[in-house]
Amino acid sequence: MIDKLEVGKRINNLRNNLNYSQAELAEKLAVSTQAVSKWETGASLPDVEILLNISWICNTSINAILEGDNFFDENINIDRDLFHLNKFLICPKCKKQMKLNIQKNDTLIYECDNNHQYYVVDGVVDFRTREIPGEQWSLSYRNYEEYLHEQYWPCNPNYNRGINQSEVIWEKISELRPRVILDIACGTGQGIKHQIKRINWPVTIIMVDLSHRILKWNKIFYSTEWKNPYVEMIYLACDGANLPILSESVDLVFSYSGYESMQAKMFDGFREANRVLKNEKHTIYNKSVIESFESKNSKKWMNLLLSSVNEEEKVWWKCEFIDIERWLNICTTSGFLENKSIQIYGELPAPDCDTFPFENEMAQWMAEYIFISKKLRA
Ligand SMILES: [Zn+2]
Repeated sequence: MIDKLEVGKRINNLRNNLNYSQAELAEKLAVSTQAVSKWETGASLPDVEILLNISWICNTSINAILEGDNFFDENINIDRDLFHLNKFLICPKCKKQMKLNIQKNDTLIYECDNNHQYYVVDGVVDFRTREIPGEQWSLSYRNYEEYLHEQYWPCNPNYNRGINQSEVIWEKISELRPRVILDIACGTGQGIKHQIKRINWPVTIIMVDLSHRILKWNKIFYSTEWKNPYVEMIYLACDGANLPILSESVDLVFSYSGYESMQAKMFDGFREANRVLKNEKHTIYNKSVIESFESKNSKKWMNLLLSSVNEEEKVWWKCEFIDIERWLNICTTSGFLENKSIQIYGELPAPDCDTFPFENEMAQWMAEYIFISKKLRA
């Protein structure tokens, strides 16, 4: 039998810990202030769905609210978020589901039935992946201060033309209201960052990147100055082309230039996104594309770029040149049967000279699209 009076006291405690008034908690839960007051005095119990939301907002479990279970006691120094992963994680080697193990010395390990083990290091589950050799972009930040500087640095204006990408993404995300979002090849979280600030329903965001180094800093950034109490963040240092995540468990795969940053593994990453998505759910992502293989402007840019890179880079860029038509075909063959494309900006006009004008970030001339692709089981 559930003791309503005790449940009320616990809700009251949790609310006070967050320094919310009854009205503030009520607003976050979309209920009346009177409802909160009734729970706290033991006159009634919250509905199951609302209980779930209370547990998310107050960073605890439903059990803890109903039964005073101290599983997530503050004295045990474990992020509740990490327990949620038990629902999602599979071993990248043998694909068996994994469970969290707490060692005597407080070390946390995810382990499968075949004893493959992955440590939680600085709050990030570490699948021991390394960044793409020769690139290792995270090394451009020497420490957290430099990382932080980058988080507030204005974007290169060539990537900032056209309509506001964040608004287009927000419109769709707020319509879909996903509960579990996977941000694939997230880097510093440039695309999801602006969404995180605005989310006003309980969400788990799983940030995935090869680089443990960046995720470790993301964890600090998104749990301090960029924190949103609605959003629970989980960090996996793993390969986006071999996600340690259960099939059909995610509501939205988000990528902000993430797929293309996976380079040779881009298509594998895209298929993995399809695998982990529940049926009829979406991936929303931006992508640089050329306008058309037939267009004079596209052809001129491609020639300029190819004449400025070495043989090895040429091979890579030739794969990277994809026009809208080809990309929509790739979507369909990857299991995304419904696709919408929104142009953010078009190609820059090709310059009237023989040298390619950009030294790094060579995609600045390309067109930019937001794609919304829906998984539909064939
Ligand atoms: Zn295993």
